[in-house]
Amino acid sequence: MHNKSLRELALGLKNSDFSSVELTQYFLDRIETNKDINAFITVDSDSSLRQAAQADEMLSSNNGQPLTGIPLAQKDIFCTEGMRTSCGSKMLDNFISPYDATVIRKFRQAGSITLGKTNMDEFAMGSSNETSFYGRVLNPWDKERVPGGSSGGSAAAVAARLAPAATGTDTGGSIRQPASFCGITGLKPSYGRVSRYGMIAFASSLDQGGPMTRSAEDAAIILQTMSGFDPRDSTSIDIEVPDFSAGLENELKGLKIGLPVEFFNEDLDPAIASITTDALREYEKLGAKLVDISLPNSHLSVPCYYVLAPAEASSNLSRFDGARYGYRTAEYDDLLDMYKKTRAEGFGEEVKRRIIIGAYALSAGYYDAYYLKAQKIRRLISDDFTRAFEKCDVIAGPTAPGTAFRFGENSDDPVAMYLNDIYTISVNLAGLPGMSIPAGINNKLPVGLQLIGQYFDEEKLLNVAHRYQQVTDWHTQSPEGF
Ligand code: GLN
Repeated sequence: MHNKSLRELALGLKNSDFSSVELTQYFLDRIETNKDINAFITVDSDSSLRQAAQADEMLSSNNGQPLTGIPLAQKDIFCTEGMRTSCGSKMLDNFISPYDATVIRKFRQAGSITLGKTNMDEFAMGSSNETSFYGRVLNPWDKERVPGGSSGGSAAAVAARLAPAATGTDTGGSIRQPASFCGITGLKPSYGRVSRYGMIAFASSLDQGGPMTRSAEDAAIILQTMSGFDPRDSTSIDIEVPDFSAGLENELKGLKIGLPVEFFNEDLDPAIASITTDALREYEKLGAKLVDISLPNSHLSVPCYYVLAPAEASSNLSRFDGARYGYRTAEYDDLLDMYKKTRAEGFGEEVKRRIIIGAYALSAGYYDAYYLKAQKIRRLISDDFTRAFEKCDVIAGPTAPGTAFRFGENSDDPVAMYLNDIYTISVNLAGLPGMSIPAGINNKLPVGLQLIGQYFDEEKLLNVAHRYQQVTDWHTQSPEGF
């Protein structure tokens, strides 16, 4: 049951091979038996089963849509009415949203079941899931290793087959890097494709929600439900949403795949390089042509991001002051003391580090030197992509510089941790869609291949990923014991 695709599950429900209540109970049981993974922050079985019973009614009156009755895991960054939304932080440990995020509303309308809210780095800041207030998530491939982050709970849940599919968010790589570490398929859509309304903000000009699934075929179905213009999100783009499943089978003959020379240099781990090269060879067999391209400013993406993302975060997180939402310190002298104690006690170390860096970069004396400069670099990085796409249809390369690392390995060195996103961050800075698909295994750990597309060309990315998954089986491999 837990290896069935979304399409197979939908067919099983339609043919009454099993009910949504049975299916939901099945995954709730798997979550319970694999509690040690710590993939979920909140599970409310009664509510999930109630939703499933309603879905069964819809299905019996033939009112089903592709996701009706299918249980899904939602990253705990999406506000869900009536259920805790913590964003991995003590600050929101007691927060129950009075409304649904647009993404959650869309899933509810589609009749899917919320299995639970997945664990994540606090406020989505991290690459290892070690910054969560709710404890680390174990990588199902090796429980001594991180699942990646910040959407590590979603990635681990899908890899361990605790949910058929999940949502994630990606500000600098948080869908793609954990997808790579856990051997699943993750897609960060173009900026503006998926509504950010009700998605707790980290860095608003970079944040984007997207699917975390086992295959590109499943990702197309999840993305279909998530996408669309939302007047409640002022950066949502009013552009037509294509049928993402329609072009999956398109031929790749003549497709031009750009290889950034900057990604394939002597710094690239030889094992990752060889897996990436093997994947590219498969694409050649499918008729694609490989062309060299250059992203000359890509080495500036990490420093640029670590000025802009903390700057936006410091502004976004100012709303957590003890007066409006969530945590408030128990004892205080006056209003200022209440703010200070609440924030000192409610935020974790990494979040505080980002707030301090961001406030510094935005301060009057340093704004020009840091924030303004980083904005200019951001433009250069995005122009690099525009030029590169004159020569190719998609760009391919590694997702992450290595495989899942051990707990604690990068914890004392923030820069080493930040470098995990060296291949993913530029995609967020440019607002492009990016994807990670399983492409091999090194020392029993999965390795992802990154595909980057043109603005709003998720269709092509899904097509390119799907054709590869038809001729390889990396995406069907599961960690031992799952
Ligand atoms: N790892 C990056 C960071 O810590 C990206 C996080 C994300 O994409 N949410 O900021």
